[in-house]
Amino acid sequence: MIVYLNGDFMPVEQAKISPMDRGFLFGDGIYELIPSHSGRFVGFNLHLDRMNNGLDAIGIVRPDISVRQWLEISQQLLERNEGTDLGIYLHITRGDEGRRYHAFPEKVTPTVFAMTTPIFPFLGEPDSETQPGLSCYTAQDKRWKRCNVKSTALLGNVLHFQDSYSRGGNECILYNADNELTEGSASNVVIVNDNQIITPPLDEQILPGITRHLMIESLRKEGGFGVSERVIHMDEVRGADEVWVTNSGVHILPVVTLDGRPVADGKVGPVWEKARACYNRHCFDLNV
Ligand code: PLP
Repeated sequence: MIVYLNGDFMPVEQAKISPMDRGFLFGDGIYELIPSHSGRFVGFNLHLDRMNNGLDAIGIVRPDISVRQWLEISQQLLERNEGTDLGIYLHITRGDEGRRYHAFPEKVTPTVFAMTTPIFPFLGEPDSETQPGLSCYTAQDKRWKRCNVKSTALLGNVLHFQDSYSRGGNECILYNADNELTEGSASNVVIVNDNQIITPPLDEQILPGITRHLMIESLRKEGGFGVSERVIHMDEVRGADEVWVTNSGVHILPVVTLDGRPVADGKVGPVWEKARACYNRHCFDLNV
């Protein structure tokens, strides 16, 4: 695999990062995953904007790389690595000051790393008859209070994911101390009740998912769907007609069991099929 590190492309075996890098020592960094299918990116600019917002939020100086250069780096990575369904993973840390000390170093250059990673194939015609749904478990959200920042420090997410994975689950769906849905350990969550497509509002409890945003934009663009962003109690999730998860690796996928119990009749729902088709029609063209 060919990766990018601080201005150069190289085989991954040659990419060396110091153990004194704050990304390694503290998880002090921001990352992104930008999906591409057959060379076409989904939401490229939106991902870069979110990355820059994350860097600003934690006081890492933005690397001197323009949008055009990010695009060139990403296209180069696609060309140098094989696959039709590839995510571009970007990872920027505060850098290496040569010692382990909590305070931000005064003069340090951020470490910039990028690679490709395989993602779920893009669905052609989504089909609720043949699409297998996901099995998820739920847990109280034990992560930090700034989940809107796409921090590389993912231990909380990893532990939640593993808890579900070790029981055969595909994702862990989280709720806060008030029993309100937040998000998944690596996804945003959407429910459908009485044909209303509902997802929690953006705040510090969830990542402002690009897939979530593109889904809402495509549904509103086409019209005919009821979409709302509001607080969702877990009772509503457990009694929902449909539950979906969204992220850049899978786009929108249906969940058919929660904590071992079926969601509604345990089958992939018809609203997912329509919404996913609508998303497929627009996602490449909305803010590319
Ligand atoms: N929430 C969390 C915690 C995530 O890790 C992710 C993606 O990795 C998402 C939501 C979905 O974000 P996006 O749609 O931008 O991939």
